[in-house]
Amino acid sequence: MRLPPLLAVSSVLLLSIVTVYGEESKSLYAPGDNVLELDIDNFDSMVYGSPRGYFIEFYSSWCGHCIHYKPQWVTFATKLKDWSSVVQVSVINCADEKNSPVCRAHAIDAFPTLKYFPPHSKSKDDGQKYTGDKYELPSMALDVAKFVRADYVAQRPPTWPKVEALPSTIILEQLWSAMSPSQQILVAVIEEDPFLTGFATVIGFGKNPFVEAVVMPSSHPIAQQFSGSVLPTLLIFKRDNPNAPDFVSKSEMSVFQMADKIDEYITAVADTVHQGPPPPAAVIPGAAAEDVVAAPAPTKTLVPLNFEQFKVQQLDLSSALHYMLTQEIPRKPVIDNENLAALKGWIHLLRRYVPGTAPIRRLFYRLDEWTQLQSYSITAESWIAKVAELQTDLGHPLPANASWVACKGSKPYLRGYTCGLWTLMHAVTVQAYADEKDNHGFKPVVEVLEPIHQFIYHYLSCEICAKNFHHMTEANELSLVTRPEDVILWLWRAHNNVNRRLAGDASEDPSYPKRQFPDAALCHDCIVNGVYQEGKVLEFMLRYYTDVRTDGLVPTPGYKVTEFEDGKVQKVAVKHLNPKFAIHANNVDKLEETEARLRQQQVDANPKHHWRSLDSDGYAGAASAQSADRSTFYLIWFVIVGIALAFAYLKYRQNRSKFWKTFYYYNDYKLYCCCWYP
Ligand SMILES: Cc1cc2nc3c(=O)[nH]c(=O)nc-3n(C[C@H](O)[C@H](O)[C@H](O)COP(=O)(O)OP(=O)(O)OC[C@H]3O[C@@H](n4cnc5c(N)ncnc54)[C@H](O)[C@@H]3O)c2cc1C
Repeated sequence: MRLPPLLAVSSVLLLSIVTVYGEESKSLYAPGDNVLELDIDNFDSMVYGSPRGYFIEFYSSWCGHCIHYKPQWVTFATKLKDWSSVVQVSVINCADEKNSPVCRAHAIDAFPTLKYFPPHSKSKDDGQKYTGDKYELPSMALDVAKFVRADYVAQRPPTWPKVEALPSTIILEQLWSAMSPSQQILVAVIEEDPFLTGFATVIGFGKNPFVEAVVMPSSHPIAQQFSGSVLPTLLIFKRDNPNAPDFVSKSEMSVFQMADKIDEYITAVADTVHQGPPPPAAVIPGAAAEDVVAAPAPTKTLVPLNFEQFKVQQLDLSSALHYMLTQEIPRKPVIDNENLAALKGWIHLLRRYVPGTAPIRRLFYRLDEWTQLQSYSITAESWIAKVAELQTDLGHPLPANASWVACKGSKPYLRGYTCGLWTLMHAVTVQAYADEKDNHGFKPVVEVLEPIHQFIYHYLSCEICAKNFHHMTEANELSLVTRPEDVILWLWRAHNNVNRRLAGDASEDPSYPKRQFPDAALCHDCIVNGVYQEGKVLEFMLRYYTDVRTDGLVPTPGYKVTEFEDGKVQKVAVKHLNPKFAIHANNVDKLEETEARLRQQQVDANPKHHWRSLDSDGYAGAASAQSADRSTFYLIWFVIVGIALAFAYLKYRQNRSKFWKTFYYYNDYKLYCCCWYP
């Protein structure tokens, strides 16, 4: 099944795209979550030069793993909310494109990434990546306490509590007498160096008006008197009985358990201090008191199939391509080694099989030409500049902002990019099959599956998603993929495995629950007795992923169309075209080659005249780039030779008399010499 070529038309198809501008990826976090939301506008002013440290989650709101991690981070931030004068738990959403420069500057290429910034940080270089276990919240709190302690030793910030162990000379009476009258509770944590539980307690309760917290080793006289059987030991003293602890921990307690215990004491003290009536119960207007019942827990209802979700939309594909090119790939400040190899493989794959309009296919043709020439590395800046240049050259075939049609989630942070990426990958495998099914030399794993695998592994910034996919390629042997159609079925199976794993997960959009695909309502023949019939599934996939819809895409009043025949330009005209004609322009390589060759011939015939005029038509491609390079090369040489000649002439003028005298009376004068010899 060869897909219809784009007639004999090579075109600058200035497809305008109806995008929902201003639709930003909204934050996963809400004001009550105890995290400080940073963004490009406040990041530098908040984090740099601040008297407190920052512990920041760089996350992406569409990343399933980040959605999954959110409750952990909220719990952590809530546990550390009283640390905020010393270290502030924060977030920044890297899926929000406006924040991309910040995330790129901090070399964030996997989500979620946690970084600690000490107080008075000056730049991104001061941020330290957290490499501990981010799910072990108590030990992560101790790690943060360790960062804080190091900063305390280095900077002694005057507004911080004393993050140090109690000197052995201080006795209990002295502690009480140094405390203010409001401080009703004395907390002592007994443990050995590095005292992290104790320091965490000091940081957490350092600003509490009812508490004084100290840390001491087991050799301290107070510890000798009261220490329990385990370390660290928590002692809690009350002012009304200052010489004997009211509480001594008898078993191991985590830093959070200690904090909870101390909070119990604080609540009791606070209650006696502020004794007043209990807060009134919430009243619902118009409801009798007995009618007010607790809201029922939400029950899972069966969500009907939304068929709009099951359409391959060009705008989803284009948005995924846009996001991938402008956000995901340049997350790495420098692309080199295996990342560069993965990028080359992926862009080459897209050059061959990307679904889309002629300009989109040309964009990948040219991007591939350029990428393959980069031998060692590509910086994020040069990548972004190249993509922008191609977008301009080709009339912006990809949208300026991502906007979703079938991939639109019920919340701004659900679905979107990963849905578009899956759709793109399936469409690529189908296009590869359509183009190569009769090609006996075609190697489906090397030419299609491995480039997909390597791209996902190296560039899908949802770190766990990328790792899971990588494991899947190991577990479901790629060596079994031998025929072009096997690639389609391999990816279909892999995707269904992911759907199965994520069903009911926090990252699932409740309005679009995970299902095995295709549902019987989409392909009745595909399922017999509950079992997928792979032959039918293949037929369905071929139909489904070649039926690309154009919702949201409209033709602009004018398309510039250039018609070729036998490698010669026949006509250049402005037309109104239905964008549908522009999709599946799979002969674009030949068109690009023909155009490049024609340009080259013209340039060779008269370089001075032609490269400029070709360039100015707004559609100059590889040939004009090459001729521009060559002209620059000639120009540089021209300038160098000119300067050298001018210099020689000046020197000649300067020493003209000496020159001629030397010429005629050799040895009487020394050329260029500033001394006169007698
Ligand atoms: C490679 C990869 C790995 C991922 N791993 C994880 C992960 O580990 N954890 C996590 O939370 N999220 C992961 N995600 C994201 C997750 O798979 C979904 O993309 C996301 O939850 C959005 O789901 P969705 O409902 O939009 O449909 P998606 O699963 O994104 O599917 C998009 C569209 O593809 C079609 N489709 C569905 N299933 C199939 C199939 N089997 N074959 C062909 N077409 C199909 C449907 O039309 C569907 O609307 C991953 C994404 C990718 C691209």
